[in-house]
Amino acid sequence: MQVALLGVPYDNSSSYRRGPEKAPAAIRAEWERAVQYSNLTTESGIDLSAPGLLRDAGDVPCGTAGETRTAIEEHVGQLLDAGERPLLLGGDHSLTYPALRAAHARHGQLDVLHFDAHPDLYPQLDGDKYSHACAFTRSLEAGLIDRLVQVGIRTSNRPQREIAEQYGVEQLTMANWTSGSAFFFERPVWISLDLDALDPAFAPGVSHPEPGGLSVRDVIGVLQRLGGEVIGADLVEYNPETDIQAVTAPVCFKLIKELAAVLLQ
Ligand code: MN
Ligand code: MN
Repeated sequence: MQVALLGVPYDNSSSYRRGPEKAPAAIRAEWERAVQYSNLTTESGIDLSAPGLLRDAGDVPCGTAGETRTAIEEHVGQLLDAGERPLLLGGDHSLTYPALRAAHARHGQLDVLHFDAHPDLYPQLDGDKYSHACAFTRSLEAGLIDRLVQVGIRTSNRPQREIAEQYGVEQLTMANWTSGSAFFFERPVWISLDLDALDPAFAPGVSHPEPGGLSVRDVIGVLQRLGGEVIGADLVEYNPETDIQAVTAPVCFKLIKELAAVLLQ
């Protein structure tokens, strides 16, 4: 089993700032530095530089919103059909819906562990049903997800609360956060990690900074305590344009390593 990194240089479904389009290239550039200032061994001791554990599958060709969704679904599907575990590097959060479509077509209903400051449960936003703020509404509506667990939420408003109630979404909000939280999943799991789940002190390079968030350690702890078979993941909403002092790029490298560790379990 191998983890395949798949870049999605696309941010045209963002509702505010642009910039995550540049994230896959920025993460690859950081990778070149990180293998010198750090190494490719995960905290659990897996050396990701060993043959057959991790490869770069390149970027999805992106165009219009619709073309991009189709291309994401096709490329994720090809990786899954080859027996690989996709790890998508966004890009804005709109990529999760087409990725989950591909995973659902092969695995059936999924459990999703979603880290985010925002529930991304708007029915639509600014007239766009496929906005990054609607990815989980579309996924629930299409029956792709059985159990959605959201961690780090701190901006839930009325329209999103209504969708959460309608679909029985489980939320571990920041108001209720306790360190040591652990989750066990019965179905195949997809992990969707929006960088803005982290406190902007740890990850300023995002488009929608929301103070009062998780630490890098908190996120890694949840990943390390997770029970279940993780079949794919995405790391989204990294915005190199707002990444002052390049604080967030090493966080991306670190989280990619720890996500890969979970995907290889
Ligand atoms: Mn967010
Ligand atoms: Mn999000």
